[in-house]
Amino acid sequence: MKLMVEIDGQMVALVDAVWVAYRPCGCACSVMDADWGDGEVFASADQAWREFYPLKKDRDRAVKQGYRLELVTFRHYREHIDILANCDACKPKKEAA
Ligand SMILES: [Zn+2]
Repeated sequence: MKLMVEIDGQMVALVDAVWVAYRPCGCACSVMDADWGDGEVFASADQAWREFYPLKKDRDRAVKQGYRLELVTFRHYREHIDILANCDACKPKKEAA
């Protein structure tokens, strides 16, 4: 049996979906498979939050800071999302020369 989820009005297999975490500035910073293929699945944002932040206090802080999660297709992720991209707001600070 395949678990299906609806993304942007389309039904996709959960195994073809990934959770993307976004920083408050809007940059993607982390990605996680929604279905690990071993019976462990993250079908809801709540489940995904728990995996990204096992501790409730960390989850609460992240939400408060403006972090958010989005379920997207793996294809969308491959084509449009770069978790290594940083904007000026979240660029790692350069060491002073
Ligand atoms: Zn940023």
